[in-house]
Amino acid sequence: MDLGDPAPVGGSAVAGAGAGEDHDRSSPAIGRVQSIESCGLFDGPGIRMVVFLQGCPLRCRYCHNPDTWDGRFGTEMTVEQVVAKARQFRPFLERRGGGVTVGGGEPLLQRRFVRGLLHALKTEGFRTCIDTSGHAPADGLTREILSYTDLVLLDLKAMPQDHLSLTGRTIDRTLAFLDLLTDLMVPTWIRHVVVPGLTGTPAHGVWMADLLRGRRHVERIELLPFHRMGVSKYERMGLADPLPGIHPPTAAEMAAAAEPLRGLGIEIRA
Ligand code: SF4
Repeated sequence: MDLGDPAPVGGSAVAGAGAGEDHDRSSPAIGRVQSIESCGLFDGPGIRMVVFLQGCPLRCRYCHNPDTWDGRFGTEMTVEQVVAKARQFRPFLERRGGGVTVGGGEPLLQRRFVRGLLHALKTEGFRTCIDTSGHAPADGLTREILSYTDLVLLDLKAMPQDHLSLTGRTIDRTLAFLDLLTDLMVPTWIRHVVVPGLTGTPAHGVWMADLLRGRRHVERIELLPFHRMGVSKYERMGLADPLPGIHPPTAAEMAAAAEPLRGLGIEIRA
C-alpha cells in the first residue's frame, strides 16, 4: 500500500511533508495501524479504545508523535481485527458514553479503511469518533465517513497566515472540512494546542471565535497545553528538536488563551 509520505529525512520536519496528498489509495479492508490503546480517557467522552493510524501529511512543529508520520510503517490490520478488539473491550467502552476513537497520525489519510471500520463499528452499536486535522477532501467519501461518525475532534492548529509554517500545509482543507461538519451538523469538539509565542495568542483567540461563532454543532473547545514529551522521539529518529527552548504554557497563559473564546455559548476546557 502507498499511504503517504516517505519518512522525513534530515533536519527539516516540514520539508518531510512531501506529496502525501492522495487520500484515496488506502485499502477498504486493511489499514496501517500504529497502535491501539484500550483505555483512552482523553480522546472523546467516557472510556475509549483509541486506534492510532499510521501516516500523516502534516508536520506540526509541536507534534509529539513523529513516529506516526511515515505511512509505510505500522502494522497491517483488517477491519475485522480492529472490530474484534473493540468487542473485547465493549463492557468498558459502554460505560459513561465511551466508544472507539480513530486518530493518528491523520486518520483521513486512510479514508477507505476508516469508512469500512466506522461502518462496521456502527453496525455493532459502538459510538464512534475521529480525531483529525481535517486535512482531507470535503467530498462524497468524507461525507460517507461522517455519516458513521458520532463525534469529530477537529484540531485547529493555527490561524491561516501561520498554518503553513507551523504544519507544512495550508489551512484550506481544514476550513472546508469544518464547513462540511457544519452543513451536516456533526457534533464537534474543537482542539487547539497552546504553544507559547506561536499559538493560543490573543489573535488566534479572536480568529477562532469569529470562525466558530454560530456553528451550533460545536459542543466544546479544548485548549491543550503544549508539552515536550515527544522530544525523545525526535532524538531517536535523528531529527532536530523543532521547538528548542519552548516550554509548556503557564496556567495564566492558558487562561489568557481561553479569554477571547468566552461568550460564544460553547463549553471551554483549558
Ligand atoms: S496532524 Fe497530528 S500527527 Fe500529524 S504532524 Fe500534526 S500533531 Fe503530528
